[in-house]
This record gives sequence, structure tokens and C-alpha cells, in this order.
Amino acid sequence: MSQLSDTIQHLYQNAPAFQRRMDKAGLTPADLQTEADLAKLPVLRKDDVIELQKQEPPFGGLLAAPIGSLRRVFQSPGPINEPEPNEPDPGRWAIALEAAGFQPDQLAINCFGYHMTPAGASLEEGLRHIGCVPIPGGIGNQEQQVQMMSSFQVTGYVGLPSYLNALLEKAEALNLPLYLQRAFVLAEPLPSSLRQALNERGIEVFQGYGTAECGNLGYDCPELAGWHIPENTIIQICDINNGQPLPYGETGEVVVTLFNKHYALVRFGVGDLSSIIAEPCACGRPGLRLNGWQGRVGAATKVRGMFLHPTQLADMMARFPQVKAYQAIITRKDHRDDLTLAVVLQKGVDSTAVSQSLKTTARQALKFELKVAVLDSLPANTPPIRDERTWE
Ligand SMILES: [Zn+2]
Repeated sequence: MSQLSDTIQHLYQNAPAFQRRMDKAGLTPADLQTEADLAKLPVLRKDDVIELQKQEPPFGGLLAAPIGSLRRVFQSPGPINEPEPNEPDPGRWAIALEAAGFQPDQLAINCFGYHMTPAGASLEEGLRHIGCVPIPGGIGNQEQQVQMMSSFQVTGYVGLPSYLNALLEKAEALNLPLYLQRAFVLAEPLPSSLRQALNERGIEVFQGYGTAECGNLGYDCPELAGWHIPENTIIQICDINNGQPLPYGETGEVVVTLFNKHYALVRFGVGDLSSIIAEPCACGRPGLRLNGWQGRVGAATKVRGMFLHPTQLADMMARFPQVKAYQAIITRKDHRDDLTLAVVLQKGVDSTAVSQSLKTTARQALKFELKVAVLDSLPANTPPIRDERTWE
């Protein structure tokens, strides 16, 4: 029996909400044997989990182990509850910290919150798993944190990138020497200017990607060429309209399946957008990579029942250097959505040819029929999508 079908079988028998979900989709565990089979099961959304947990607290019938067998329980904003099994490195962060060069016996300050939410404890378990000695820093008390980092000559940092920057400024203000060599950051975007500023202070910065429910879903290697997906983690990049897996390279929702026997995270849509890099990485690690964080599904707007996402639109418009500015405008007449792409062109561009090319590309890349309106100008900071529909 494969690891996947073993997990599915166990969850079906032990997590009542997972069994109901399978039954509703007309599936039995025998139908889900391979990764490709997973596409038969509709995506479970975070909002679905929140609703399930509201109806059936605390875990909405998704827990597949006795609650007394857990090590910790957490609650994240939503509210959404998360169980932590009593296993080594439950968030699977060790592999990411190793790739970031964290070493046994290294002291590392962990500046993720330890209060109620999982990040602090989860990263601490990862650090301990590879033999690092964590300082449970948490968030706040920056003066005390930098004093401690200085007196222990701490070389590792785990936390938000912006918080690291704040600590460095605090140390400078207090004239305290710090000894940081490497940082593992996640949970917010890392602007390249910030990475560079940290590098200039002698700190190597590695990014991770994950969620409160799923733990580690991707991490930098020294090549910094996309996030390696950890082993025992299935990530499908799926069409945000129908949940079906997309070809490698196309942008869609990150949908996660874990071989997790205590909590049913199967076809869980995390609401983030990314794409898969399938080419092997120069570092030699096997497997697929995620091509960074490309936005939230929530920013998408539905037009004619299909999602239009600013990122998709930006990807398409990147192919049109002759377009100076653009905005997609959604209107509604006679209960039908209309999509108009307003564009401002560079000087001397043939507007008929560009309009035709935009229409054709939109049909292929966005799967939308649209009208093109060539304008003389658009206001600065025009949002990429304007929804003018009213729903009286
Ligand atoms: Zn690599």
C-alpha cells in the first residue's frame, strides 16, 4: 500500500468530517491511490475548516487521533484551531533550517510568537531537531532580546524579516555588538532591498514558506532559485476556478496534501498563488520547487463566474511593453458581466494591432473575452482591476 493510500484509509476511518467529505464526493479510499487521483476530491478551503470547527468544536471532525495524544493545540486568527502531534519536528522545519546552514550547537533566537499560535513552538521544534539551542524570544521586549543576543553571541535568527531589521536597529541604538550570521525568515514577503540590506550586515538570509495548519511548504537552498517543497508534502498548483491541477509553470492556488495521520489535511487550498518549477535545482536537491509567493486567491474577482486575478493580469500585460498603463474594468448590463481592458499606449504604437493582439492573448491566457479601450491617460496608481458592477 502506498503512503498516500495508507494515509487516506486511516483518515477515512478516524476523521468523521473527512469521511463525510469523501462520501459527498462519491469517493471511497480505493479511489485515491495516487497523487493524480487526488484531483477527484474537491478542494477544502480555510473558510470550510472554520465553519466545520464552529459546528463541531474544537477540530470540526478533522482530527484523526485522540485529543490526549497531542503535544500542543493552537488557535490562529479565523479563528482556526490547529493540533500538534507528539512527534519530532511536527512542522517539518528541520530540513529548511539545515538548508539555510543552521548547525548543531548553534544558538538561535526564535522571534516568532509563542502565544496561542503555532509558529513559535513549531520553529523551536525544528531548531531542536537539528541540535540548535533556541532562545524563545517571541515578539516584543526588543531591548532585552538584543542584550541577550549580544551576551550569548547568538549567530542564528528565526522570525519575520522586518522584525530582524528592527532588532538590528535597536542594537545599533544601544551600541551593542551582534554576531548574527544567518537568518531563516518567513510569514511575510521579503523585499529584495531588505535581503540586500541584511546581506550587507553580514547576515545570510533564507526564506521559508508555510502555513499555520500545514507547517513547512517550501524553503530556500543556497541557490535562492525557488522554494524546495519538503518531502512527504504534496503540493498541486490548481486552477482557482475548478480546483484541477495545472501544468508546471502555470500560476494557480497552492493545494496541499500531507501524509498526516492525526489531522485530515487532504486537498487543502491555502489561498496563496504560486507556480511549480520542475527543472532540477543546481544544489542537487531532488523534487519540485515553488516559484515564490504570487499573491492571494482572495484578491481575485469573479467575472462571469470565473476568477480574474491581478497577478494573472499582470503576467499577461508583461508581454505588452507597448502598453504604458492599463486597468481592467468590469461592468454589468442586463445581468451580464462585461470586461473592458483600458490601455494607454506608448507613442507611435499601432492601436488596432495591439488591441487585436490583447484580445487574442486574453482569450488564451485569461480565458476571457474582452473589449479594449485605448485611452490617452489613466490616473497614477490606478488599481489593476475596477469593479463597477452593482447588484440591485
Ligand atoms: Zn536548490
